[in-house]
Amino acid sequence: MAEKLYVTYNDVHNLCKESAEHILANFQPQLMIAIGGGGYVPARILRSFLKKPGNPNIPIQAIGLSLYEQLATDSVVEEPGKKVTRTQWLDLTSLGEMKNLIGKKILIVDEVDDTRTTLEYAVKELEKDVELARQKLGVDGKTEFSIFVLHNKQKEKKGTLPKDMMDEGRYLAARTVGDEWICYPWEAGDIEEHDEHARQAKAKKANGSS
Ligand code: 5GP
Repeated sequence: MAEKLYVTYNDVHNLCKESAEHILANFQPQLMIAIGGGGYVPARILRSFLKKPGNPNIPIQAIGLSLYEQLATDSVVEEPGKKVTRTQWLDLTSLGEMKNLIGKKILIVDEVDDTRTTLEYAVKELEKDVELARQKLGVDGKTEFSIFVLHNKQKEKKGTLPKDMMDEGRYLAARTVGDEWICYPWEAGDIEEHDEHARQAKAKKANGSS
């Protein structure tokens, strides 16, 4: 994974803009759930492009997920596993809040689909919690999840997403890239230097010498 892909704020803006049309036509989300921290900025930008005149903005809920490498120990000799930990979640105690998710079309937003572990966890757990809330409230309504990421890395995935979601095209990656490290602007210490790396890479590509 030698190459690094530098993505600027303008790149993120444009990827959201070009994806919004597809999202509006195919997913028609009524709510977004942004996976923090990488999903926050794309979700906010997307919200502007998804807004229809005369309609309110689509609400954004935030969840926080962290992927931890489980270090190999003497008793664990397999490849180090990966465990997702919730750092922030829906307020399951607020039945009013949970009711808002029932019967809705919900777009899950993250910046990158790498091993897919995080997305698998998010979809499974959200589906489970929404179904539990639905049963508790005794209401009808099928919640439909779709996914938007800026980048999908083409590689063997460790996580899987529901078959119906994939078959029905409820997964959209603005770009599919190789297994390279993507540097997002919100992680940059020096944003000018970051943008300069991005500019140079684009110039190199335009000259056909990448
Ligand atoms: P997963 O492997 O579960 O698909 O991705 C887990 C998380 O790792 C992502 O949400 C993201 O925060 C981080 N990640 C994976 N690949 C990259 C990358 O190329 N660049 C950055 N900045 N983060 C990444």
